[in-house]
Amino acid sequence: MSQIEKKERGQVLIIGSGAGGTTTAITLAEAGFDVVVLEEGARHPLTSYGQAPTKAMNQLYRNRGMMPIMGSVPIGYVEGRCLGGSTEINSGFWHRLPPEFLLRWQARFGLQDFSLEALDGHFAWAEDKLRVQDRNGDWPKSTQVFQRGIEAMQWSAQEVRRAASGCVNTNACAAGCPKGAKQGMSVKLVPEAESLGARFITGARAKLIIKHGNKVTGVLADITKPDGSSDLVRIDADYVFVCAGPTQTPALLRKSGIKEHIGDTFQIHPMLKVSAVFDEDIDAHKSVMPLLQVKEFWPDISLGGSFFSVGHLAINLADNWLTTSDVIKNYRRMASYYVGVRGTGAGTVRASLTGDGEATLKYELSDVDIRHLSQGLARLSTLLLAAGAREVYPCVFGLPKITSELNAVRWLDESLPRSSLSLTTVHGFSTCPIGERPERCAADSFGKVHGLKNLYLSDASMLPDSPGINPQGTIMAIARRNALHFAETHNQQGT
Ligand SMILES: Cc1cc2nc3c(=O)[nH]c(=O)nc-3n(C[C@H](O)[C@H](O)[C@H](O)COP(=O)(O)OP(=O)(O)OC[C@H]3O[C@@H](n4cnc5c(N)ncnc54)[C@H](O)[C@@H]3O)c2cc1C
Repeated sequence: MSQIEKKERGQVLIIGSGAGGTTTAITLAEAGFDVVVLEEGARHPLTSYGQAPTKAMNQLYRNRGMMPIMGSVPIGYVEGRCLGGSTEINSGFWHRLPPEFLLRWQARFGLQDFSLEALDGHFAWAEDKLRVQDRNGDWPKSTQVFQRGIEAMQWSAQEVRRAASGCVNTNACAAGCPKGAKQGMSVKLVPEAESLGARFITGARAKLIIKHGNKVTGVLADITKPDGSSDLVRIDADYVFVCAGPTQTPALLRKSGIKEHIGDTFQIHPMLKVSAVFDEDIDAHKSVMPLLQVKEFWPDISLGGSFFSVGHLAINLADNWLTTSDVIKNYRRMASYYVGVRGTGAGTVRASLTGDGEATLKYELSDVDIRHLSQGLARLSTLLLAAGAREVYPCVFGLPKITSELNAVRWLDESLPRSSLSLTTVHGFSTCPIGERPERCAADSFGKVHGLKNLYLSDASMLPDSPGINPQGTIMAIARRNALHFAETHNQQGT
């Protein structure tokens, strides 16, 4: 590594190009600010998307997809590390923030100007940009059988809109959509921000935010060169927006000595997966994942469809492999589903004291989480059996399969043992909550970090609490709102 060099300068410097960062970049570029975005990951063309899982994870995921959340039940977590961040590898499911959560956040965090009406236009802006829409009834088989079970149980459910109009079932969401149908940020929004003058520097990892008193002056960043070596560079800016995602934003702030309510309240949606065998061919490996979500038990418990490949099926069966290894032969008649719970446990994110200051993640499931996961398993298994499944295989060690409704409903009243659970999550948030309550908020209602004049955050970390829904829509709507507020207040001040 060479000595520190001063390279770029931006009026506004944004760290991270995911849902929060790119929304902020496009909004501020549109408002006439000189915007520089630093993105740690690389820029990949669509032609390199849709690779086999190991290659895709190496290319698009942080730590090749290995980010364990430690606790009495370790939880597998993944996030994106590429231009566009996690939006490049997500499934594009889209929700607006339900009114109940909006009110809850106002009450608990004192969020200002945070009404349905105030957010409405920002959701509409994002939905228009990403062409969010229903699939219009053209449902793959894994959705059709799920629908059969929902009807049998008479539970309320909805088809979830997606930011993937023109989806043609490549089943490659998690590897980057090679057709450009799934609207990750890199598809249209980054190019649009660039056309408005924003500069995206990829392969640029912000390592430290530089502070002088109550102002920040820029960042130190490692910028990767074509030969793979890197330069340590100082980038000056009038304003810095940290949009590095729910784990990296708190890690970077803490490494930079900014710690007040930062990384102390990590929230997730813990997820328990099951795979089910039907009598008919489903061919889930050739279609988009099931598109319906059961809302009957929301906000505590949601039931929905999971990504399916033969490799992922093997992982789902691995807890009880000695008795389940043969089941994989039925993969054409199988599909995978999940129980997602809102998450009421307690978690933290810290910058590791060793290595490069990577984020260390901890989350302790609450007893309520365990109850909800158990009840969710009972309900999802009952639904799948009612839909015609012969066997349901949960990711629970020592519980190889569920074959009857009576076996399933047992978990309505009993709790699954913690030590037997194999859980995952792809939704992290709330590590830097926004709001006006100084005793629990890291930043004000519009993301300005408390105690610093010109430092902002705008990504999943700012959501005050677990939203109980797929979060990208909410992150983009709040990021848009925050950036517009910044533009208005700063233009008024003539800066
Ligand atoms: C597999 C998967 C499936 C998902 N499915 C859905 C779904 O269907 N619907 C939904 O609503 N949500 C889904 N999500 C969640 C959603 O994608 C995220 O909540 C959202 O993208 C978070 O936005 P963000 O801006 O906080 O972070 P990200 O989008 O992750 O962006 C953060 C960016 O910051 C960069 N960065 C981090 N640290 C630094 C640094 N020090 N310097 C420079 N750059 C840095 C990262 O490389 C990354 O590109 C899914 C997530 C995953 C992983």
